[in-house]
Amino acid sequence: MITIDGSFGEGGGQILRTSLALSLLTGKPFAIDRIRAKRKKPGLLNQHLTAVHAAAQVGEATVHGDSLHSTSLVFEPAGVRPGQYRFDVGTAGSTTLVLQTVLPALVLASGPSQLRLIGGTHNMNAPPFDFLQKAFLPLLERMGPKVEATLDRWGFYPAGGGQVSVNIEPVPALKPIELLDRGKIVRQSACAVVSRLPRHIAEREVDTVRRKLSWPKDWVTTDEVDSSGPGNVVTVEVGSRHVTEWFTGFGRIGVPAEKVAGEVVREVKRYIEAGVPVGEHLADQLILPLALAGAGSFRTLPPSAHTTTNIETVKRFLDAEFEIEQIEREVHEIRVRPSATKN
Ligand code: ATP
Repeated sequence: MITIDGSFGEGGGQILRTSLALSLLTGKPFAIDRIRAKRKKPGLLNQHLTAVHAAAQVGEATVHGDSLHSTSLVFEPAGVRPGQYRFDVGTAGSTTLVLQTVLPALVLASGPSQLRLIGGTHNMNAPPFDFLQKAFLPLLERMGPKVEATLDRWGFYPAGGGQVSVNIEPVPALKPIELLDRGKIVRQSACAVVSRLPRHIAEREVDTVRRKLSWPKDWVTTDEVDSSGPGNVVTVEVGSRHVTEWFTGFGRIGVPAEKVAGEVVREVKRYIEAGVPVGEHLADQLILPLALAGAGSFRTLPPSAHTTTNIETVKRFLDAEFEIEQIEREVHEIRVRPSATKN
């Protein structure tokens, strides 16, 4: 049995999710302890528990330790069963992180799947739905499978109640991708969204984005959406010939709209100036699909702790070798190839 120390590196929920995803795919059981030891509230929260139960359903797994706040877990899958599933986090916990757990196995399963996920759709420290739909899934689809995601209802922290539907047409194997050059930037836009909050918050956010990036007025929009509770995000799209990146700022109590927008603009400027195709978050999320494809490469910003931790977790399950080469101060190339020693 593979044993994982959940406290290493980033020491967060991703170590658990990647382990679940790869246990499903490889059929290898694992035991993890010190789950999320580096987080303020360690152990399994609702979102992680939902991910564990989702993986257990998809993988007909035997599980021990699957209770709220548990810091250790044993997961023994029996086989991947595609089909129709409904996963409800029960709180505002992130639906996209639950999806991240079962998606790799379902894109390589023996038949199609339809998922309905209920919870948060735009959470801090998680991929917002739009990022998933516009940045991550198009790259995954380039590797072969068809994955169509729909936002049925927005869900913000703390009320939750959002819903995402996902249709998956699997493939027998993922094709490698190479993303070394993003090509010319062809599209830039920003949209600020509020639910049950004054519209001026959204307007101040897009004004800040426009001013700081010297954009024309028609590149920005605002929208009011209906959700179970209040919420606000400002998103910036940078569409290039070969890739679309998506940046998100999350409105929160006590933080002025201008500051929320300013944080996103900093991220956008850094990405544009570095000239790389892949931003920080997309980088850690591409590690697993690339490793499954057995080959591929991309250029990105200096790797985050999420990226390096994800690489180490993947290596516990797969015979993949990763190389990280610094090309320029802000440009790193990450390459994956099958392990020469183990194959
Ligand atoms: P924890 O369980 O430790 O509280 P977590 O479950 O939220 O944290 P992390 O291990 O922190 O999980 O991983 C969060 C994931 O969300 C990472 O893959 C990260 O790239 C992604 N992410 C965070 N913010 C964004 C963002 N703004 N856009 C896209 N992806 C994001």
